[in-house]
Amino acid sequence: MEILVTGATGFIGHALVPKLKTAGHKVTALSSMDYDLLEQSEVRKLFRDHSPSTVIHLAAKVGGIMANKNYPADFIYTNLAMNTCFLEEARKAGTKRLIYTFCGCSFGKDSPNPIKEEYLFKGLPDENAMFYSLSKAANHLQVAAYRRQYGVDWVSVIPGNAYGPHDNFSDKNSHVIPGLIRRFHFAKEKGDNRIEVWGTGSPVRDFIYVDDVADGIVAALEKHHEELPINISSGKGVSIKELVDTVRKVVGFEGEIAWDRTKPDGHASKIFDVSRMRDMLGFEPKVDLEAGIRKTYDWFVNHRDQTRL
Ligand code: GDP
Repeated sequence: MEILVTGATGFIGHALVPKLKTAGHKVTALSSMDYDLLEQSEVRKLFRDHSPSTVIHLAAKVGGIMANKNYPADFIYTNLAMNTCFLEEARKAGTKRLIYTFCGCSFGKDSPNPIKEEYLFKGLPDENAMFYSLSKAANHLQVAAYRRQYGVDWVSVIPGNAYGPHDNFSDKNSHVIPGLIRRFHFAKEKGDNRIEVWGTGSPVRDFIYVDDVADGIVAALEKHHEELPINISSGKGVSIKELVDTVRKVVGFEGEIAWDRTKPDGHASKIFDVSRMRDMLGFEPKVDLEAGIRKTYDWFVNHRDQTRL
């Protein structure tokens, strides 16, 4: 297949592009350096230059809980504007197949666990990330609308809380795993004997290593042909407290942990129902949490120059 990937130099793109190439696909890997997807003229040019039959659309504005709290307008503008333009031009260019990735935070904050794909749009997301979460859910609706009206085979997948190499490790904008890795690492390096982590430690998340997300997307490319999205995750819940203990062990930080309760907890529990992933894609993630955190930490230590800090 000839596949065009947007956001190819981002977090998931880094893991996905080599896998697509290994699977024998011809890949056009695009980043924001190639085309500005917020400019309709550039999006038109992209589709004139490439006219892809298959697109994996990863480009989006993403960030952790504090980034969402602080920059709601940036999240909603970028994701809505970019997708509106991109999908319409993709449709006009005759793109037959498109895979869109959105996020587990789009589910209602009171969704029962494990969260089934059918629960989407049954309640409002947690308010801390509401603008991002709803912009991504709206993007999924856009994909579904084109599918219904134009009969194109465009589908969406919902990765759980993804982590791994090439993630954003910045202090304020990162998700929890890179945020903790960075903080523990620097505390250990400086000899600090106390670090702060956010919230109460009680929230539960379902983490998935980025290589597994990439394999799940490859499986979806082959086998997912329905409007209802498919969750791609481990299906296992881990509390932030347990996660902190694991990261602390991997990094080797021996000081005290202080919980900063002025920072938001977010969604209380997000564990995904992965039965459609197993049944329809025949896919199961391979990397367990501790092994994945070790790989991520090794990468962080060895690629400090490439790390978004
Ligand atoms: P979420 O799934 O959208 O809430 O994504 P995050 O990865 O940003 O946050 C997950 C949970 O980890 C939340 O309950 C945070 O309060 C908690 N957490 C603890 N320490 C940190 C940290 O250093 N960074 C982030 N992003 N979250 C943290």
